Amino acid sequence: MEVIDLRSDTVTKPSTAMRAFMMEAEVGDDGYGEDPSVAALERRVAELTGFEAGLFVASGTMGNQVALRTLAQPGDPVIVAARAHLLQFEAGASAKNASIQLLTVDDGLGYPDPSQVADLVRQYRRLHNPIRLIAIENTHMPSGGRPIDRDALVTLLAAADGTPVYIDGARLWNAAVALDVAPALLCQGSVAVSTCLSKGLAAPMGSVLSGSTEFISRARVERARLGGRLRQAGIMAAGGLYALDHHMTRLAEDHRRAQRLASLISTQLPATTADVQSVATNIVLVKVKDPTESQQRLADQGVLCNVLPAGELRLVTHRDLDDRAIELAASRIVASL
Ligand SMILES: *Cc1c(COP(=O)(O)O)cnc(C)c1O
Repeated sequence: MEVIDLRSDTVTKPSTAMRAFMMEAEVGDDGYGEDPSVAALERRVAELTGFEAGLFVASGTMGNQVALRTLAQPGDPVIVAARAHLLQFEAGASAKNASIQLLTVDDGLGYPDPSQVADLVRQYRRLHNPIRLIAIENTHMPSGGRPIDRDALVTLLAAADGTPVYIDGARLWNAAVALDVAPALLCQGSVAVSTCLSKGLAAPMGSVLSGSTEFISRARVERARLGGRLRQAGIMAAGGLYALDHHMTRLAEDHRRAQRLASLISTQLPATTADVQSVATNIVLVKVKDPTESQQRLADQGVLCNVLPAGELRLVTHRDLDDRAIELAASRIVASL
């Protein structure tokens, strides 16, 4: 049976053309700053996000942890959304690798509640233990990949009242495409951003952290401390460069297919069976009575998906799924839920 993998956009495999481009990459020892492909990727992402410099890191998790270690000291309070990736999906790395204290606020809006952020900022100033950083996620995966638009970011920056705002932008590219704005506009006012190459962009690995030249030079040290100093990483960076050139605008196709998948399910099943949440980018969340059992039933029918901690089924569209795969997935889902 043909398996349709909707677990994540990280399951995409590098295309033949991408592999050919990677094979031709010029490389050097990046530990000595001598890998031209890594340098080109870092410059490229920094430009796209509107920052001075970039740093190639192994994963989104490493990008977040390097950023936390660079922007906060052990023990510092850092505000995150209650369902943030760096709280729920990084195996406690923020505690172990960055030794910071995470404070959570509601994220039902798709971003940290601004009035709760403003309250915490005020309270911790009175405690003489000021909030060091506010970390936001764009898009916000647990609310169905919802993008944070410029207005919402401006509201958050005002609530932050001068406290630095860091963006976990693993899916920032999806946000920019969905909102039809330049990625840099979604970063303006923040202190740094991490963006993934291995999700919707379909490169085999890597993320790029962007910020000021001063921030990046300190982040480079933190990356080394986490064992992330790289050597001939240009082969991997080339995959990222290829992806930025060829796979950015096509993210709109993933968004269109997610809408199609959601509408096929919601028009054929009652909300009591499958409550399909509104779709903003490439993520479809479906509330069902028994998520683990539903996940197994779908897997038996050749449709793979994830279950979020809150209990929704998560279906993610990506480059390796075409229109036909989405129609087939929907018919199997409707038949088995
Ligand atoms: C995927 C993701 C990450 C990190 O991903 P890695 O698997 O470590 O590359 C970080 N933040 C968000 C919001 C993500 O979706």
